[in-house]
Amino acid sequence: MAENGSVATHKPLGLLAELTHRCPLGCPYCSNPLALEKREDELDTATWARVFGEAAALGVLQCHLSGGEPAARRDLPEIVASAREAGLYTNLITSGVGVTTRTIRDLWEAGLDHVQISIQDSDAVSSDRIAGYRGAFARKCALAAEVKRLGLPLTVNLVIHRANIERIGAMVDLALSLQATRVEIAHVQYYGWALKNRAALMPTREQVARATTEVEALRQRHHGKIVIDAVVPDYHARYPKPCVGGWGRRSLNVTPSGKVLPCHAAESIPGLEFWNVRDHSLADIWIGSPAFNAFRGTDFLPEPCASCERREADFGGCRCQAFALTGDARATDPVCHLSPRHDLVTELAAVQTDEPYQYRR
Ligand code: SF4
Ligand code: SF4
Repeated sequence: MAENGSVATHKPLGLLAELTHRCPLGCPYCSNPLALEKREDELDTATWARVFGEAAALGVLQCHLSGGEPAARRDLPEIVASAREAGLYTNLITSGVGVTTRTIRDLWEAGLDHVQISIQDSDAVSSDRIAGYRGAFARKCALAAEVKRLGLPLTVNLVIHRANIERIGAMVDLALSLQATRVEIAHVQYYGWALKNRAALMPTREQVARATTEVEALRQRHHGKIVIDAVVPDYHARYPKPCVGGWGRRSLNVTPSGKVLPCHAAESIPGLEFWNVRDHSLADIWIGSPAFNAFRGTDFLPEPCASCERREADFGGCRCQAFALTGDARATDPVCHLSPRHDLVTELAAVQTDEPYQYRR
């Protein structure tokens, strides 16, 4: 742990490598920015290999290969191999569409450690409707079977919202039938495309309460068969989440064009200066870049966080959410019931609409 001014700089443990923003699906809750980065601006294979080496030297242990759809990159096997060569644990986060039998075998041969497949619902029609891609559900299930045939560990990612919240049990059953050993249940977080579709995605308070009870029951029912990790829904929580484990504290996120962000939504905060791996080493960016130091630690937090005993546990919540809802990125996350602007969240959580999604395109 090094000192940077008055703020301690911890070692990052995880690197989210957004290899591309290209994706065949159009999920209305996609966390990618509204202005997607272009293919011609993407980092090349050699630069990713350098980044992985620098990440490992900085203390990173896990590399999450994400996107967009990472398999949109033809050099994905080389990218996996270089991450493994750097000594990183490699996790592929995929939509399942565009990953052929051949691709997954190549990735396995390159040393891929783990696969996460996102599934939108328990039945094909609804799943494909949410993803905005006909036939996606069948491809996801086929890829899951191939992943297990190769002996790779599988996690199923479930993003929960108004259209599927009543079928969490059926989705966990599906994950079990696909032989997943872990399921990650995360309610939609309202950034990027999800912010655009907030009212169409927002469940009611009653639905969230039922879902929370159901997840506990599922954990007990399937104990020993599957691990169920669940992230509480922001707008219906009492306290905010410790976003990314604290700004510039545990993880970093490299965009397709090489910008390094403290969290995947950080570009939604205007005025932050992000450094690029094309111009700086990852260590220089982690320690010295303006964006990473903007909200490091807790010194910047106003009341009620400044004198709250939870501030080292949740860091006052999410900076992007504080900005999105109050216009001030330093404010207490309004999700917190102690925030003077908590009324904003209460009001927005009560707004639901049946209007069609604005799909990510
Ligand atoms: S959330 Fe959906 S659209 Fe966005 S990258 Fe993932 S699969 Fe693609
Ligand atoms: S007041 Fe601030 S530190 Fe305290 S619980 Fe709320 S967000 Fe967390």
